[in-house]
Amino acid sequence: MSELDSIFSDDWSEDHRSGFVAVLGRPNVGKSTLINAILGQKIAITSHKPQTTRKQQLGILTTDDVQIIFMDTPGMHKAHNRLGDYMMDAATTALHDADIILWILDVSEPPQAADAHVAETITSTRNKAPIILALNKADLLNDEENDLSEHLNLIEQHSAMQISALHNLGMTELVDHLISLLPLGPRFYPVDQVSEANMRFITAEIIRERIITNTEQEIPYSVAVAIDSFKESEKRTNIHATIFVERDSQKGIVIGKGGSMIKTIGSEARQELMTMLDTAVQLDLHVKVLKNWRTDERLMQRVGYRFPKKDDR
Ligand code: GDP
Ligand code: MG
Repeated sequence: MSELDSIFSDDWSEDHRSGFVAVLGRPNVGKSTLINAILGQKIAITSHKPQTTRKQQLGILTTDDVQIIFMDTPGMHKAHNRLGDYMMDAATTALHDADIILWILDVSEPPQAADAHVAETITSTRNKAPIILALNKADLLNDEENDLSEHLNLIEQHSAMQISALHNLGMTELVDHLISLLPLGPRFYPVDQVSEANMRFITAEIIRERIITNTEQEIPYSVAVAIDSFKESEKRTNIHATIFVERDSQKGIVIGKGGSMIKTIGSEARQELMTMLDTAVQLDLHVKVLKNWRTDERLMQRVGYRFPKKDDR
């Protein structure tokens, strides 16, 4: 039996549903938090600083009757450099491929220009997939007289649900609603595949998240993390990673006085990796300067950001 046969042959009933959900929304509305809540596993990093999700990721929810493939898109914003272009490109691709468009809004504040921009992007793609507005951060609303009409009027023809991704409110209802809108059909991916982003990528994102959390100003936007080696055995995982920055001064900051900063980053990342991998972890981090990597497509590829070719889609 070929590998493909074994993936598709496990018996699926006539009423099995599966499909792709594009998770859209401006930065910081809670997209990553929502995907993590649904999958119960850390596959997309979250942070207070916007633009932490750079690559399109697939989070996959598989049950006996359903497979939902979530495309966690980078926050939509005007591109300022090549990295910005890359992020925009990934978001648009996800939108084209979706069976359902799940637009996350933050109802704890009025809609912003960036929300209107998302509306434009959705409207301008010819995808006729159903649109669901997830009115997130509903836990921050005071119960009386919440007027959400401004949010609801951002786009025509949708269904809307109030949720809190962080506090797990309304999430079951949301997932049930998604399922009811999915096309009938067999699953696309093997049962045990949680995320197409492989362990190396998740590991790099965890390290990057620790850097973002521990540093300030321009550093979070200037780092990239590449995994040089990733060796798993039953009891221990050995990981070598390189942290790329854009300037010598940034290298000094990431290493810190007497290596204090890189030590903090390393030990926090290691803690999280041990929980995720359920093994002991040895983590070796190196910091390298790659001048202005964010503005050079070739250097971006070197640190792991590859523009999709047109026929990849
Ligand atoms: P993304 O940029 O859209 O992926 O947003 P994140 O998932 O990184 O979330 C941005 C911030 O909003 C984080 O600090 C989250 O903890 C917070 N957040 C997400 N969902 C909720 C929610 O339902 N309620 C509240 N109060 N905060 C939330
Ligand atoms: Mg995110």
